[in-house]
Amino acid sequence: MRAWLLKTPAPVASRPLELSEVDVPVPRDGELLLKVSACAVCRTDLHVVEGELPARRSPVIPGHQVVGRVAAIGAGAEAFNVGDRVGLAWLGRTCGECRFCRGGRENLCERAEFTGWTRDGGYAEFVAADARFVYALPSGFDDVQAAPLLCAGIIGYRALRLTGLQTWAGARLGIYGFGAAGHVAIQIARSRGAEVFVMTRDRERHQALASELGATWVGGADEEPPARLDAALIFAPAGELVPAALKSLDKGGALVTGGIHMSDIPSLPYALIYGERVVRSVANNTREDGRAFLEEAALSGVRTHVQTFPLEEANEALFALKHDAVRGACVLLVS
Ligand SMILES: [Zn+2]
Ligand SMILES: [Zn+2]
Repeated sequence: MRAWLLKTPAPVASRPLELSEVDVPVPRDGELLLKVSACAVCRTDLHVVEGELPARRSPVIPGHQVVGRVAAIGAGAEAFNVGDRVGLAWLGRTCGECRFCRGGRENLCERAEFTGWTRDGGYAEFVAADARFVYALPSGFDDVQAAPLLCAGIIGYRALRLTGLQTWAGARLGIYGFGAAGHVAIQIARSRGAEVFVMTRDRERHQALASELGATWVGGADEEPPARLDAALIFAPAGELVPAALKSLDKGGALVTGGIHMSDIPSLPYALIYGERVVRSVANNTREDGRAFLEEAALSGVRTHVQTFPLEEANEALFALKHDAVRGACVLLVS
């Protein structure tokens, strides 16, 4: 099969991924072999490819927002049928035994395996997946539309959950950085009745899309929104946004950072977090987050905006993502 291999992380401008011919994986016990149709490109892929996340396997096939159909079934995974459409996400497997797994926080599992980082992912024609960690996909989304739901969507959903907001109707939510995650999170927040303020640096693509999707107000990355925020999400990997967002956050509000990697957060005066403000990161997601999100996304009529690239242009897709040149989410068309 054709697959993109990352051997040594390097800046994406140097085209570090190599398109190679490799053996189709054989599903082990409890696994499914998926024939990949689409794989969305996440900023985390960029962190894997460029080495901000240390290499955990080499070579590795990146990609963790995979839509595919079951092509073969390993022993113990007979609940699935050949041809079933499923989604595979970042959390590829957990141990089920550590204190986090036992305590309902499998997203923090001590021995978790991650698709496209510690396990091979979906920048390939086939991928093997633990059957317990794939998702049924709502029928209203075609393969390309569904792919970005699997990380951008789910992580955005968990970020909304971690704000701790109990009442969404009329709540004021800020979103900093408006790529794939932001453009789904705004739709969920709007359907719950929140007012959304979007701060993002790209006027042409991101600010325009935010307005289209119902933002109350849209401004530059460092602009102050015209109202105090009850909660804020940061999806850009820029630590300097933390003090900027805290300045706009009302007392008792939560600021949730959605990325796996962020540049250093500058020192900030205590007054910015006084007033019981909370800063909290999102780390991965539980399967329950995934199922709950996919259900709400279908019910609330979420639509993903995608820009597609053929499988052969994975390096170009990553380059475009890095340089904010993608409107909505970036998706590789595999087959
Ligand atoms: Zn565990
Ligand atoms: Zn991701």
